[in-house]
Amino acid sequence: MENKRLYSPKQVREVLDRHGFTFSKGLGQNFLIDGNIVRGIVRGAGITKDDYVLEIGPGMGTLTEELALNAKKVVAIELDNRLKPILEETLYPYDNVEVVYGDVLKLPLREIIDEKLGGGPVKVVANLPYYVTTPIIGRLLEEELPFKSISVMVQKEVADRMVARPDTKDYGSLTLFVSFYTKPEIILKVPKTVFMPQPKIDSSVIRLTIKDELPDTNRESFFKLVRAAFSKRRKTLINALSTYGLEADKDELRAALVRAGIDETVRGEDLALEDYVRLARELPKL
Ligand code: SAM
Repeated sequence: MENKRLYSPKQVREVLDRHGFTFSKGLGQNFLIDGNIVRGIVRGAGITKDDYVLEIGPGMGTLTEELALNAKKVVAIELDNRLKPILEETLYPYDNVEVVYGDVLKLPLREIIDEKLGGGPVKVVANLPYYVTTPIIGRLLEEELPFKSISVMVQKEVADRMVARPDTKDYGSLTLFVSFYTKPEIILKVPKTVFMPQPKIDSSVIRLTIKDELPDTNRESFFKLVRAAFSKRRKTLINALSTYGLEADKDELRAALVRAGIDETVRGEDLALEDYVRLARELPKL
């Protein structure tokens, strides 16, 4: 397949200038201009010729092109209609790519997967705009769509929080949210110099491998507990929980802790996922 590769800074500039394209800061447009990183993302995401891939935010198609070369089929969702003539040009050589224009937070993803991606399982790959990282990952996980993994470029600090261990400053509700649904791993560290325009912060690519089975507990109670536990990081767990306004008084909470085998003096950040899972099981009606 003829392939002029999009990722040299000169090539990116040439295509964008020819189309009179200007970057939108509001849409978090920082495009990749480094072939090693583009290839590293696709390799780290474990993409093979058998894979159906959903890309979010293709930009001018740099990562999309590498995905097209390595996957069976790629559907890319892009919010910015101004990129349409550019993507039509850059992705022209690839007949296994389809671009859908719209907001990934609003589009009917299940329908798109059923109609265009063989009904799943699907691997998600994305270089996301920083301002919508958390809502997008939140939607992808909560809806329990047929995903195998989600590999995304995020702000370095966000990736560090996702993989944090208990009893560290980064450990918190984001860690527990992500590890409820997935096994998170940082697959690439990305310096700010590989983007055009250059952002102020460094990034990491994180791969979230979806668990075959979700933890066996009451999900609503689990997330309520986690929110309550981290609402007052410096308090003991029992005090943080009892002042948060949960539908259980201090005695009920204390009894549930005992039944879950959790010491009353611990703080929320000392407890691992399994501890919250057990505790939520003891407090199903929160
Ligand atoms: N993938 C390209 C690359 O790596 O060079 C572009 C990455 S850029 C950081 C993020 C892209 O996401 C932009 O093209 C932007 O227009 C698009 N985008 C922003 N918000 C979006 C949303 N809610 N839904 C879909 N795409 C969005």
